[in-house]
Amino acid sequence: MAVVRKLEERILKDGRVYPGNVLKIDTFLNHQVDTQLLGDMAEEFCELFCNCDITKVFTIEASGIAIATPVAQLLRVPLVFAKKAQSINLGDDLYATPVKSYTHKRTYDVIVAKYVLNADDRVLIIDDFLANGCALNGLLGLVEKADATVEGIGIAVEKGFQPGGAELRKRGYNLKSLAIVEELNEDNGMIRFRKQ
Ligand code: 5GP
Repeated sequence: MAVVRKLEERILKDGRVYPGNVLKIDTFLNHQVDTQLLGDMAEEFCELFCNCDITKVFTIEASGIAIATPVAQLLRVPLVFAKKAQSINLGDDLYATPVKSYTHKRTYDVIVAKYVLNADDRVLIIDDFLANGCALNGLLGLVEKADATVEGIGIAVEKGFQPGGAELRKRGYNLKSLAIVEELNEDNGMIRFRKQ
């Protein structure tokens, strides 16, 4: 798990803590992207889920795509990303489910075309952040609507002090988070990780 140490060190070096328990790591993960580091993280996800016979990697636009792409490439399977839609006017050829946004404080629909997710798909969900689990639950809802199977969930950074991760593990999902942030302090910028 050397990559976990590498990711944690990078978060400590470049991460900034914002009010509302928001951790900004957009100089290497979800705005500017360190493709070398994400490639190393993708290798770790592949090792963790290599026995799951994955047929598709599934994420949500936009920031999930950067980390999900090298995972799909290494597993040699397609990447599918759910899209965020503002409109309620959704067609019959889509699965849709509502999601509450943590960072933008609003609700939107996530959608996926029926023809890219099938009942015989064994899905690995990959995302950059897990906090309250709203985004993940939206993706799980879409997989369920497609009658596909969730084989695993891989997260770059879990905020362990928010309930999403614990709830998903309780529900039996094979969830692996590379870095788990246990505490953020916006006053002094302190970031503390869970020992794994
Ligand atoms: P959740 O739906 O689990 O509450 O939050 C997951 C989504 O919200 C992620 O896909 C990410 O876009 C965003 N998010 C939640 N917490 C943070 C944070 O501390 N920093 C950043 N950059 N994004 C976050």
